[in-house]
Amino acid sequence: MLRKIIELSPVPVSFVKFIPSMMGENTICYGRYQYADLYRECIDIKKGLRLQEKIGVLLHEIGHAKCDEDGCICASKNTWKGEYHADMFALKWLLDNKQKKALGIRMRHIKNHTQDTNIYSLAALVTMRTDLWAECREYVKLSWIRKITSRMMRDWL
Ligand SMILES: [Zn+2]
Ligand SMILES: [Zn+2]
Repeated sequence: MLRKIIELSPVPVSFVKFIPSMMGENTICYGRYQYADLYRECIDIKKGLRLQEKIGVLLHEIGHAKCDEDGCICASKNTWKGEYHADMFALKWLLDNKQKKALGIRMRHIKNHTQDTNIYSLAALVTMRTDLWAECREYVKLSWIRKITSRMMRDWL
């Protein structure tokens, strides 16, 4: 699965020990997409993340890289729109490929961002108002209910 996702990336992906955070020293950064005009075009992902978490982070960064490749207005500007586009790319891929667990983790991650006051919280609020978000929520919730129901059925029978 991870290899399949790495192949989606238009730029090289590396797994690194530490990524300096743009949001201050107290925040841990899990991934970043680096634009060519800064240094070299690449994606860095923090080592040691759980696979399901890593998949979501990687897809988010690939979302940035794809925007850049397509000449999207969000590219190279550090705005909420870039974060919004990257999250939408990640959610859509996870939903299309039925990655329920990774999708649930990514959704929780996005939801947690609404607690902050920065470009991530604005992006999260916009993302959570989309039809895609509703579809994802429905998918994650439905399969969760199905799992519970089948367990209950098993206990009863
Ligand atoms: Zn974009
Ligand atoms: Zn981002």
